[in-house]
This record gives sequence, C-alpha cells and structure tokens, in this order.
Amino acid sequence: MPAPSSGPLWSAGATGGLIHSKRTEGFDTMPRDLAILACTECKRRNYTTTRNKRTMTERIEKVKYCPFDRKRTVHKEVK
Ligand SMILES: [Zn+2]
Repeated sequence: MPAPSSGPLWSAGATGGLIHSKRTEGFDTMPRDLAILACTECKRRNYTTTRNKRTMTERIEKVKYCPFDRKRTVHKEVK
C-alpha cells in the first residue's frame, strides 16, 4: 500500500537555519566632528558646526549673532 503523497512538505527539506545578521554595521557611520561654538562674551554655546579634522586643525572662530548678548560676538570652538 503506497503512502499517500500528502505528507507535510515543510518537514522534509527544512534545512534552513537562522539567519545571523550582524547588527553592528549601522554604527560605521561616525558622527562628523562636531564643533561647539561658544560666545566669548557670555560663554553660552550658541552654535554648532562640523569640522574636518584634516583641513581644520586650529580652533574655529566665527563672528555670529548671540541672542543673549543681542549682538554679534566672536564665537570660539569649545570642546
Ligand atoms: Zn553671548
């Protein structure tokens, strides 16, 4: 008596294992070097900018409007 061909197919060739996926790949995107620009008068950190380490080696200084001093002041990069 031949066995009926109605056996569950998934039980025969279910050799696939778990797919191991590395979840660390997304962390390769390093944040750019963020420079914080602080007002030299009130010391508040008003602005941020990105710097390129290869081209910008010295500290960044920019004249920007400080809303706390209500005028344009020199903002220097702080760590
Ligand atoms: Zn200020």
